Amino acid sequence: MKAAVMRGARDIRTEVVPDPVLEPHGVIIKVKACGVCGSDLHVYKRDEQGTIFGHEFSGDVVEIGSQVKGIVTGMRVTAVGFKPCGKCFWCVQGKGYRCSHMALLGYQFPGAMAEYVHIPHAVLGRTVFTVPAELSYEDAASVEPLSISYFSVNRAQPKEDEVAAVLGLGVIGLYAIQVLKALGVSKIVASGRRGARLKAARACGADVVIDAAKEDALAAAMAATAGMGVNTVMECAGMQATFDQSIAMTRGGGKIMLVGIYEQPLAWDPLTAISKNLALVGCLGGNFPGAIDLLRNGKADAKHLITHRFTLEQASEAFRTQLHDPGAIKVMFKME
Ligand SMILES: [Zn+2]
Ligand SMILES: [Zn+2]
Repeated sequence: MKAAVMRGARDIRTEVVPDPVLEPHGVIIKVKACGVCGSDLHVYKRDEQGTIFGHEFSGDVVEIGSQVKGIVTGMRVTAVGFKPCGKCFWCVQGKGYRCSHMALLGYQFPGAMAEYVHIPHAVLGRTVFTVPAELSYEDAASVEPLSISYFSVNRAQPKEDEVAAVLGLGVIGLYAIQVLKALGVSKIVASGRRGARLKAARACGADVVIDAAKEDALAAAMAATAGMGVNTVMECAGMQATFDQSIAMTRGGGKIMLVGIYEQPLAWDPLTAISKNLALVGCLGGNFPGAIDLLRNGKADAKHLITHRFTLEQASEAFRTQLHDPGAIKVMFKME
């Protein structure tokens, strides 16, 4: 089959590779759509060999392992892929889902930027999810990133009369705006950079959009709340500056949801967080059924975010676009 394969730093090539091999607990899916993720770009910049990316995808089930229940061929699905190590404390107790050395689809084993992908441990409703007819394959390939935003916003339990801020307008931040809107939060302040993303933030439902490249984001957020500050910050940027802004713009008793991945350790003085009784909450997880429901009900929409589409043969161009094109938000592979 054809697949997009890493061949060194910033070098992705479309090659012919062996077809995936079906395992008794696995399924093989013919891929229809697959998104390029920000996490893929981190690896893309490193000198690695052989990685086949792709964990935001959808397709049709074509082969089913002998031990799999409830999944039939032809099912339109999206899925999460992981392989427990089988040796750690949790695996030995039969709790592989808590494995501390989990191998991930699209990183440690081949992902969905290929004609076919193998999902080990296929369990309907747990790792494999049926896609309702209302959702396109592109929508279904957007469930994974949307599920992260859904999970993170849900942890904050925002109320309708509150003000929420979203810092960092990558895909997770933009979907967080959609989820906040879907939950009826009355005022959403969004701060980010790049024209395309600021425009998308408005389309996603942000009431106040701050261009952090030109404005003082903290001053603008305080002005938007008559000096009160916001109730909840979704910190989706993962940088020192946005962390500091979060602490400063959250009103007493408010919450800061830490969603963005920090590449550098933080320097901070906890005194402000203590004196304002702030809650800092780490968020790492996804809710696939919740995300699928939002898309089906039209409360979330992938179309504001998908800016570029490529075939598998154009893999190299697809990655260059996601990394360098300032207009790129989500780059999507579409397989015939
Ligand atoms: Zn991702
Ligand atoms: Zn393990």
